[in-house]
Amino acid sequence: MVMMLFKKLSDVSEAEMQKLLSRGSGLEDVAKTVSAVLSDVRTKGDAALREYTAKFDKVELANFEVSEEELQQALSSISPELLDHLKSAAANIRAFHEAQLPEAIWFMELKPGVVLGQKATPLESVGAYAPGGRASYPSTVLMTVIPARVAGVEQVIVCTPPRPDGSVHPLTLAASKVAGADKVFKLGGAQAIGAMAYGTETVPKVDKIVGPGNVFVTSAKMQIRDVAEIDFPAGPSEVLIIADESADAVMAASDIIAQAEHDPNSLSILITSSDTLAEAVNKEVLVQAEKTARSSIVKASLKNAAIIIADSLEQCIGFSNKFAPEHLEIMVSDPDFVLDRIKNAGSIFIGNYSPVPVGDYASGTNHVLPTSGYARVYSGLNINHFIKYSSIQRISKSGLESLKETVIALAEEEGLQAHADAIRTRFGYKPSK
Ligand code: NAD
Repeated sequence: MVMMLFKKLSDVSEAEMQKLLSRGSGLEDVAKTVSAVLSDVRTKGDAALREYTAKFDKVELANFEVSEEELQQALSSISPELLDHLKSAAANIRAFHEAQLPEAIWFMELKPGVVLGQKATPLESVGAYAPGGRASYPSTVLMTVIPARVAGVEQVIVCTPPRPDGSVHPLTLAASKVAGADKVFKLGGAQAIGAMAYGTETVPKVDKIVGPGNVFVTSAKMQIRDVAEIDFPAGPSEVLIIADESADAVMAASDIIAQAEHDPNSLSILITSSDTLAEAVNKEVLVQAEKTARSSIVKASLKNAAIIIADSLEQCIGFSNKFAPEHLEIMVSDPDFVLDRIKNAGSIFIGNYSPVPVGDYASGTNHVLPTSGYARVYSGLNINHFIKYSSIQRISKSGLESLKETVIALAEEEGLQAHADAIRTRFGYKPSK
């Protein structure tokens, strides 16, 4: 029997609220193990990768890099229909991320003679992690590699865990081809993150690592930030649904079950202003949990789930902003009222016909999103994660004249005489005299 929290918001205890909001990431529990793996990868390179792949993925690999032959075999083993679906998802993801592209360069004239601008430059190299433990995530390959390619990143590599027979799911390999990855490595967990961060004999070091993963992957990403940039912590998946009496209980329940099947640590919450809907969704979740294919993972995950009844839609919104969900579904009769008031959410799905799975796979928005409340400060994966910006100034003598006194006054107050003199030399002052 699945026991979800089912309560009025006013009856949720402080401890229950803390548990929901903090959702215990488990990062601290694995930090030591992960740090030891990273240090071994840093000092022993490929030898450490072989050792940890045997230990954690239960397979001895002579080569980590997927050969062109394996990639071609994977492509030809997939049905033409499935390949078409993969390509169609890829095209939507490409189109959405192309729409995010900034101007390569722009200028503005602040005042006569003072021209300022900004130049966008793609990163040189990126490593994408596609999880592969409990399930395979070819969709994650599309979500990470395509935006990098659209941004113009020169080298894009993929790491994904090998299966016990040493292979990778053919659709993951096909996705790497369709998305345009340069190389694919059969590496998972902390050892994969270490390999991409430090570089080994076979795995090139990259400037930035993106992509979701379990607690080992996330902990490793947090620990290598001295040598490589990361996107953000993206761990066990979560959904929060804000619903009123107009929502469809069967649809809402099926979205809760869909989230729960990711991982025993995934988290689903429904917060609603309607008692009737809360009752109906609760009943429906219990029925669907029994029937679904990954029933045991779903039931484990539902222990973290909650159905909460609030007094008003404003209360639902207040809770959601505090929770900062990775995925937010809005199933209410006036969604714009809610949308206008949402401050923290990784990705927002509006109406009965925008369920999270459509964004997970095919609509084109990115499914690599900040979890555990990080949506308060991080954006989901987008084109800006692969681009850096240089500011530019082109100032004439008369333009500098107009800024001269301000710079000199501020520089002298800071005690930086040479800064002030660098301005004065432009107007006849000779520091050497
Ligand atoms: P994974 O690839 O993240 O992890 C598998 C790896 O973990 C293995 O290769 C192994 O090296 C390592 N590992 C396993 N047990 C270990 C141990 N005891 N000690 C050290 N290392 C160990 O795959 P997963 O486990 O299926 O997790 C995928 C996660 O990614 C799920 O939580 C899913 O919800 C999440 N996800 C998140 C998003 C997002 O955008 N937030 C998107 C897709 C998936």
